[in-house]
Amino acid sequence: MSPKIWVHAEIFDGTVSEVSLELLTKARELAPVLGGAAIEATLLGSAIESEAARLAGYGASRVYAADASELEMYSPRPYALALSYLAALHKPDIYLFGATSTGSSLGPAVAARLKTGMAAHCVDLRINGDKKLAALVPSFGGRVIGEILCPGSSPQMASVKPGIFKASEAAAGRVTVERVPPEAWADANPKGSLKPLAIVKHPPRGMPIAEAQVIVCAGSGIGGEENWRLIERLAESLGGAAACTRPVLDEGWCEEGRMIGTSGRSVRPKLYIGFGVSGATHHVCGMNEAGVIINVNRDEATPIFEVSDISVEADVNAILPRLYEALRR
Ligand SMILES: Cc1cc2nc3c(=O)[nH]c(=O)nc-3n(C[C@H](O)[C@H](O)[C@H](O)COP(=O)(O)OP(=O)(O)OC[C@H]3O[C@@H](n4cnc5c(N)ncnc54)[C@H](O)[C@@H]3O)c2cc1C
Repeated sequence: MSPKIWVHAEIFDGTVSEVSLELLTKARELAPVLGGAAIEATLLGSAIESEAARLAGYGASRVYAADASELEMYSPRPYALALSYLAALHKPDIYLFGATSTGSSLGPAVAARLKTGMAAHCVDLRINGDKKLAALVPSFGGRVIGEILCPGSSPQMASVKPGIFKASEAAAGRVTVERVPPEAWADANPKGSLKPLAIVKHPPRGMPIAEAQVIVCAGSGIGGEENWRLIERLAESLGGAAACTRPVLDEGWCEEGRMIGTSGRSVRPKLYIGFGVSGATHHVCGMNEAGVIINVNRDEATPIFEVSDISVEADVNAILPRLYEALRR
């Protein structure tokens, strides 16, 4: 039997998420190395027929689709039941999820049911010399990239953040859509199940970082909330978005949704300007595809300068207010 790479196609607002298309594109790169593996997808939701066909455009030759009103909103238990049922039946070699809030909850739940492991928040995926999945994850505070292998159990599972890979359409191919029967998510213990009632969306303040062509990013070197407000205003005056590293978010200087990196978003703006960012791998892997990278840091040996097109060795407090004033004027 030929090997199989599965991608869970996540539905958001009735359409397949971009990250699922990115994973299908990556699966097309891995498949020949894995001996011509078949690329297949799982899809759960309500009124999703057109989405099943769309997955073919990104390389899926088979889609296991569960289309039912009770699956309209993501709910951990029925979703995990359905996907583990399908994986136990069809035995994929590799099973990939987007490291979104849904994928980060659903993937491990499926892995636990299948008694396998899952490499989370990967920054790259490869097939090694033994034809096993090597999932690359920054480790030890981002100083090294660890290769996570799970050769002894099946499927080998991994999740990848949106934006790490780029989605591209495949040559049109045939797709077989297999309906998943309701027994797949039938719950023997419905009392223990959570039932979602509604999805409430909070509109982000300012431009979302994933859409911005210009990003001004604050690192912990900005020193405090006052400078974060300046970063926001500078980003606005450039028609872009303000972003941050993890310490800035942890300190509570800015709101959720602004962090770049493995646990945040991956971005590809035309211009990235960083202030007081050190260049840890966890952050760099989310921004190193930017067109032009400029960084201001007072430490001439900081790793961020290695990935910068323009390195400004200076104190943030000497540059940031003056730059903002100059642009404002
Ligand atoms: C599992 C895991 C996931 C993670 N995910 C992410 C992630 O998604 N995104 C992320 O960003 N991080 C993430 N991290 C954290 C990451 O490893 C780094 O700790 C973080 O990116 C460092 O942020 P920083 O550059 O702002 O701070 P620091 O590393 O503290 O660097 C501050 C920099 O500012 C400079 N500086 C200080 N004061 C000034 C000044 N006045 N003027 C000029 N320069 C100054 C310093 O020279 C230094 O280079 C993760 C960590 C783990 C363990």
